[in-house]
Amino acid sequence: MRCIKCGHGTYRSTNTEAVELAGGCLLIIRNIPCYKCGECDEIMYTGDVVERLERLTAKAVELAQELTIVDYAKAA
Ligand SMILES: [Zn+2]
Repeated sequence: MRCIKCGHGTYRSTNTEAVELAGGCLLIIRNIPCYKCGECDEIMYTGDVVERLERLTAKAVELAQELTIVDYAKAA
């Protein structure tokens, strides 16, 4: 996979995302598999990771807790 910003090669890594949900709730997802650019540090996710992140976000909205921390590797 090539960097969408600068075209440099990327390497596999993991990332943590903080998503602010409606109502001021905060969702933190750890250990998300991603590709990171070796040049500009741009983070990229594959299609199925994006899909899974959307599902996790929808689930967190249902729970509606003030702060939810999810480990991507452990979440169903
Ligand atoms: Zn780049």
